[in-house]
Parts: sequence; structure tokens; C-alpha cells
Amino acid sequence: MPEMRYNFQQPPQLLIGFSVARGSLRLHHLTSARQEKNMATALKIAPPEDKVSRFVSKTHKILINGKWADAASGKTFPTYNPATGEVLAQVAEGDREDINRAVKAARTAFENGPWSRLTPSERARLIYKLADLLEDNLEEFAELESLDNGKPLKVARAADVPLAVDLFRYMSGWATKIEGNTIPISVPYAAGAKFLAYTLREPVGVVGQIIPWNFPLLMAAWKLGPALATGNTVVLKPAEQTPLTALRLGELFQEAGFPDGVVNIVPGYGETAGAALAAHPDVDKIAFTGSTEVGKLILHAAAGNLKKVSLELGGKSPNVVFADVDLDSAIAGAASAIFFNHGQCCCAGSRLYVEDSIFDKVVDGVAEHANKIKVGSGQDDSNDMGPLVSAEQLNRVCGYLESGISEGARAVAGGSRHGDKGYFVKPTVLVNTNEKMKVVREEIFGPVVTAIPFRDPAELVKQANNSEYGLAAGIWTRDIQKAHRLASQLRAGTVWINCYNIFDAALPFGGYKQSGWGREMGHEVLEQYTEVKAVCAAL
Ligand code: ADP
Repeated sequence: MPEMRYNFQQPPQLLIGFSVARGSLRLHHLTSARQEKNMATALKIAPPEDKVSRFVSKTHKILINGKWADAASGKTFPTYNPATGEVLAQVAEGDREDINRAVKAARTAFENGPWSRLTPSERARLIYKLADLLEDNLEEFAELESLDNGKPLKVARAADVPLAVDLFRYMSGWATKIEGNTIPISVPYAAGAKFLAYTLREPVGVVGQIIPWNFPLLMAAWKLGPALATGNTVVLKPAEQTPLTALRLGELFQEAGFPDGVVNIVPGYGETAGAALAAHPDVDKIAFTGSTEVGKLILHAAAGNLKKVSLELGGKSPNVVFADVDLDSAIAGAASAIFFNHGQCCCAGSRLYVEDSIFDKVVDGVAEHANKIKVGSGQDDSNDMGPLVSAEQLNRVCGYLESGISEGARAVAGGSRHGDKGYFVKPTVLVNTNEKMKVVREEIFGPVVTAIPFRDPAELVKQANNSEYGLAAGIWTRDIQKAHRLASQLRAGTVWINCYNIFDAALPFGGYKQSGWGREMGHEVLEQYTEVKAVCAAL
């Protein structure tokens, strides 16, 4: 089992991070015995290369009402391999008309189909079966994700797919536990009268879900799991950069036996298919993960029929290292916080605040990690970091690097594009930064961390909270009082103490401030997908 470098007990669930064990930057992942057995089985059942190339070379269609169809316009769009910049696959380009058809199918399935007549237990079994099928095809999904998104295959294999499997399993358990309350009421103007009052939790109805490209399969799972557990029907629009795993997942929904129209999948562009879904008058709720800028557009579009909205948006998360810390763990953790998934995480620890007495040591350590990260195709297991997802992201991240350096920041590691083919960027550590710089204020969504020293803890709290975002934060210290006091002061939806990027289906995730509305995962997410009905009967 790979070496664990965080200074806490190894928890039984999957953990991911980087360490410098034996002088090289390594991804380590720990899994339970069951997960390891399942993974080994999956690897045996699905030597996937043929399956993957067969799937990739298909012309990909739209899933509406249980049938795979071309786009109404007949158009297709390409998805690229970000390691080479070459076209990977052609995909049907959904637009307004396809969204209309998908919403109609979802409405019919919600109101008239067998779905609404299934018992909670039957719904749970279907979701659990879907999880099993996903696990059986783990290696194929990991390969597809790595090809389409660029992330290392070993990361997709250890994190993206198993987390998606686990999410569906967790949510399947909730299907039978969506309960209301009985409420003793007093009714002061009806003296002596007796009532039986209770609440029901009912599905919201037809749900539109728009997801991003950084964890394409996992984001589909985060959205679909709770929506289905609570009995809704769905129209899902994957990101145009990474539609493949969602489309393959559509096939598994059919194989698992979900009734037609319960899950509809419409690939296409955000400004067309996405906007049509967000504005559709017969969609009851829209759930979105992506940039804060697009989140605001979604909100405007949703105003037409006042559909419910949940948003998981951007971040610029502070990661705070105190001088009393175990240095090796904090350095490895700070590097992992920003460089995991190439910094393409909304919760990336992109603002590193270090107590000034250890600032140089921590910066040197994180820079050393950055320099040791092997950047290259995600398909090659010897690489630690793949390309950014698209040419657009490459330009955006390089633009931020130029802006930071022109404003006086200094790169102690990285600072530029890596190579001249594909969309690779060098893992970068910037110093000499200040609160006014764009690189400190804005979300870069790439492997770029700004390191800033602090002396006064009260000042640190102000600086850490000085952001329009409030998604996540990290704290590294041996002093538990200091840690929990700071955790309560930070305005963020998740605070990690002596760890970072720890996700679990049972742990709610979402943002304060402009990082979003509502929570994903845990039982909190169920509220986003249910309406509460109060029933009051006179006795
Ligand atoms: P990024 O800028 O990182 O690509 P986006 O927020 O643009 O992230 O994209 C996240 C998801 O939102 C994608 O599925 C994209 O197609 C979709 N999207 C983009 N623009 C719109 C829009 N105007 N309306 C609805 N969805 C959109």
C-alpha cells in the first residue's frame, strides 16, 4: 500500500493526494478491501481498449425517451483529445429542439410513466444496479475520462469512477428514507379543534442538470444520484468539452432497466442547449455546476418560470499553514491542494497563506513538488499531470500567468506553458503577490498557486475571507484549538483540517457567497430535489 503522508489516521475510504515518498512525486490512493476486490474484478472483466476505441469511434447520439437519436438539426460537434489537440469523437449537437423533445419525454415519464409508480425500494434497486454496472466497467470509464478530459488514467481509475460508483450506492440508500414529519399544531383561533398535520417530501418534477468538464462522470453522478433517489426525471447536458462518459453512462441506465424518459442526455453547447434547458418553461428545477459567470446567466434564464435553482460555482480557496505544523505533511498537502486535477477543481487551494517564520521553507517545498510533477499524456501511467482540458483553458491560464508576472509576481516554479503540443501548463508557484492582483483575486482554474506570508492571525482571517468566493479552505496546524477556531471564522462551505480534497458521498459540498446556492451530496442535497407538502386534516 502506498505511503500515507497526511498526519492523521488512515480513514477506510478512498484518499488521494501527492507525497514525495522516495524522492518522487506520487499519487497515492488507499482503498478498502472491497473496493480493491471490485476494481481487480473490473480490470479482469473489462480489458477495455477495444471497448473504448469502439465506443469512441461511434457517432454519438442524443438519448431521448430511451432512444438514441441524431440532433434535430443533423449537426455534430467534435470533442478533442487535450493531450494532442486532435479530434477524438463526433457528437450529435443538441439544441433548443432536442431540449424540447427531451423535456417532453421527461415530463411524460414523470407524470404518466412507470417511474412514478415504482416503490422507493424498486427505485433504490435500479440505482444500485446502475452503480454495479458502472463498477463492472470501471476501467473503460476511466479510459474514456482520461482521453476526453486529459486527466491521468490512474487518477480516473482511483478517484473519478469509484467516487461515482459510491455516490450512486449512497443515494440508492436514501430512496427508501425520504420522510416527512408529523407536526403537533396549536391553531390559536380554533380553540378545542383537533388536527392531524404532517409533511410529505415529493419530487420537484422535471429537473435540468448542466455539468462541467473537470470531473465529467463524477459531476453527472453528483447530479443524477439525488435527483433519481428522490423520484425526479432528468434532462442532463454534459459539457461540450467532455461528453463521452455521460453518453456511455446513458447506455448503462438503459442496461440497468430505468424506464424510458427518466434520464435523457443531450450533449451540446452551453449557449444553445444549456441556455434552452435553463430557460425551458416546463422544467421545474435546474441544477448547475460551472463558472460563477454562467451561474448568473442560469439564474436569469430560470426567472421566466421561477424554476428552483441550485448552483455549485467557482472558488478561490485559501489554504493556511501555521508554523507549528508537520512540515512535510503540510507541504505535500499544499501541493496536492492546488495541483490535483491540474488545478481544475473549483475548490483548489489556490491561495496559500503561510506563517512568515516558515514561509520560505514551505514555498521551497511546494516548488520542489511542482518541479517533480511529471507532466504528459494522462494515458501514460508514469505521468502525474495531464493537459488542461482545452485550448481555451490553456490560453486563459497562460493569460493569468502573464498578467501576474507583469504585475510583479515571481514564479519560483513553472510559470509558462509546457511543450508546444497539447494543452499542458507547468505546475506553478507564484510569490511576491498581493491582494490586488488578478492572480490572487480571480479563479484561474489551472495549476497555479499564489503564496503569501502572514504574521497576525486576525489579519489572516480577513485576508482569507477577502474573496467573492467561499467554497473551501484548508488549515494546517497541530494546535486543535487554533484549527477549530479558524474553521469557524472562515466563510467557506468546506474546511479541511490537515488534509485537502477529501470528498465523500455523505459529506455535503457547496459554497458560501458567490460560490453557489445549495449543497451537493450528503442528505442536504435531498432538499434541493424535493418539495415539502404540508397536509392538515381536521379530526
Ligand atoms: P467553463 O467556463 O469552465 O467552461 P462553464 O460555466 O462555461 O465552465 O460551463 C459549465 C457548463 O455550463 C457546461 O456544460 C457549459 O456547456 C454550460 N454553459 C455554458 N454557458 C451556458 C449558458 N449560457 N447557459 C447554460 N449553460 C451554459
